[in-house]
Amino acid sequence: MEAKGDRGNLEKVHHVVLVLSGKGGVGKSTITTELALALLQAGKKVGVLDVDLCGPSIPRMLGVSKHEVHQCDAGWVPVCVDRLSLMSIAFLLDDPDDAIIWRGPKKNALIGQFVSDVAWGELDVLLVDTPPGTSDEHLAILENLKKHRVDGAILVTTPQAVSTGDVRREITFCKKTGLKILGIVENMSGFVCPHCTECTSIFSKGGGEELAKLTGSDFLGSVPLDPLLSASVEEGHDFLKAFPESATYSSIR
Ligand code: ADP
Repeated sequence: MEAKGDRGNLEKVHHVVLVLSGKGGVGKSTITTELALALLQAGKKVGVLDVDLCGPSIPRMLGVSKHEVHQCDAGWVPVCVDRLSLMSIAFLLDDPDDAIIWRGPKKNALIGQFVSDVAWGELDVLLVDTPPGTSDEHLAILENLKKHRVDGAILVTTPQAVSTGDVRREITFCKKTGLKILGIVENMSGFVCPHCTECTSIFSKGGGEELAKLTGSDFLGSVPLDPLLSASVEEGHDFLKAFPESATYSSIR
């Protein structure tokens, strides 16, 4: 068996990036999924760790919700989608409809196992999808990743003030915990008409960019509301492979 260094199973993981959002439903898991697929297309070795224990949606978005994880000498073998490795609580549940009603210590313990016991192998980037807000899971993942190098966090928001307001709290969380903010993504930024492909701002626009300016963070870009993207993640298809001509494809890439 290969000897593990100080960083255990994360020894050969070169970058760790958390994806955070202030609110649920703003597209954090969708952005994590598309980011992972975009990095994969760029030839990177990518892993996704889904620590949204109460609402794990990445396995479904990648079309592998029925898969199970197996054990090897080094620990849990993540589920592979193409060259992308994925670990989620969804793979450990007997019934996908099981509700996770756990207090902090139990969540902590599982997240600790996710960090120490998943045999990721060599990865360029490990993306960590977190639950909305700042909860037990966020503290647990940061605590467990202490001796590893965490590059920082990408914050996802929608353009409206109700969402950007929550992201401000997320920014405060990052500052308090010393987590570097890599930038802000504005999702659901306008609606792409499936007929004429014109983009209309049905919500306000630019809230994410404005927030980035106000807080001195980098604005990483905006992704429109696109029914084709929604259908792709719903059905577990690779949107980037299916719709390379779309405006949404360019905004994600
Ligand atoms: P969160 O992880 O923040 O709770 P999700 O990624 O699960 O949010 O997204 C919530 C819903 O919104 C999903 O049904 C997803 O398909 C849809 N969605 C997210 N972003 C977009 C987008 N840019 N265009 C169309 N649908 C989107």
